[in-house]
Amino acid sequence: MSATYKAIQVTKPGEFATVMKPLVDPGPGQVRIRVEACGVCHSDSGTVDGLFPIDWPRVPGHEAVGRIDALGSGVQGWTVGQRVGVGFLGGSCGYCEFCRNGDLVNCKNQEYSGIHHDGGYAEVMIAKASGLVSIPDDLSSADAAPLLCAGLTTFNALRNAPAKAGDLVAVLGIGGLGHLALQYARHMGFEVVAIARGSKTAELAKKLGAHHYIDSAAIDPAAALQALGGAKAILITASGGKTVAATFKGLRPGGVSIDVGVGPEPIEVTSPDLIFGERKVAGSLTGNPATGDATLRFSALTGVSAMIETVPLEEAAAAYAKMMAGKARFRMVLVTKNGNGQPK
Ligand SMILES: [Zn+2]
Ligand SMILES: [Zn+2]
Repeated sequence: MSATYKAIQVTKPGEFATVMKPLVDPGPGQVRIRVEACGVCHSDSGTVDGLFPIDWPRVPGHEAVGRIDALGSGVQGWTVGQRVGVGFLGGSCGYCEFCRNGDLVNCKNQEYSGIHHDGGYAEVMIAKASGLVSIPDDLSSADAAPLLCAGLTTFNALRNAPAKAGDLVAVLGIGGLGHLALQYARHMGFEVVAIARGSKTAELAKKLGAHHYIDSAAIDPAAALQALGGAKAILITASGGKTVAATFKGLRPGGVSIDVGVGPEPIEVTSPDLIFGERKVAGSLTGNPATGDATLRFSALTGVSAMIETVPLEEAAAAYAKMMAGKARFRMVLVTKNGNGQPK
């Protein structure tokens, strides 16, 4: 086994470099993974643009899939050779107040993959066993990768929304997250509304599972939602507080607007719009590892899949630039020389 591996790291904001790194053994509670594929997510800008305090250099990537090739001490429940995924949340500590309450997502000692420690833009990565997700045999690694962040984020938010089968649920934004959210919403049994700007995506939205399409550039999306009876939940996958505000009045009483699109813009809603109708604005952060397992299984069972474009790991910088320019349709996935975990 080679004593070094290739990684794409960011040396300072905006600057990628390809480097060979020495192979290290996993520490206690960690596993070492031969990465096969890693999705390129908008949140990687948290690393690349230095939006988080970063200890440079740093390898980005939090949609990694690969095979375990070494176990650190004390790791139980995982085996060498097993295919696993690593998402944004790097693994809970197990002893903080939130962990002890069963809230692994909000663990106080949780590190973010590719931000606090090196992520999946590499042939090898070290990950905490407590954050690992199981990959079903019938998904290739490249197909599974985007499900670890884009998939889990939308699946978890929809699964925990107060909507039941048959309820009207809207998905705002049809990009990396939105195109998966539409498929999940349809398979969960909701009446699904897609909201995006322009008429070009209408056909695709319907193909992905939307029963209705609202062109928010042409009509008031809140009024259009009310004309359909009002949404029980609106999943906001686009960033921007204005997009939340523009659809908020489209919620029926007791409805919730769930924001998963990160951006600096404040969300402005009036207190009467909150109070009369008891509407809510909520945030949702990916999901716990068991929900990660469920996301992958549900996707494999229902055929929900991300539309991906695979590129070799070496082209990470170009893939990242394409994603940031909004030109990815819909998810860029980096693949390494370690194979693609093809279905058995
Ligand atoms: Zn904890
Ligand atoms: Zn992500």
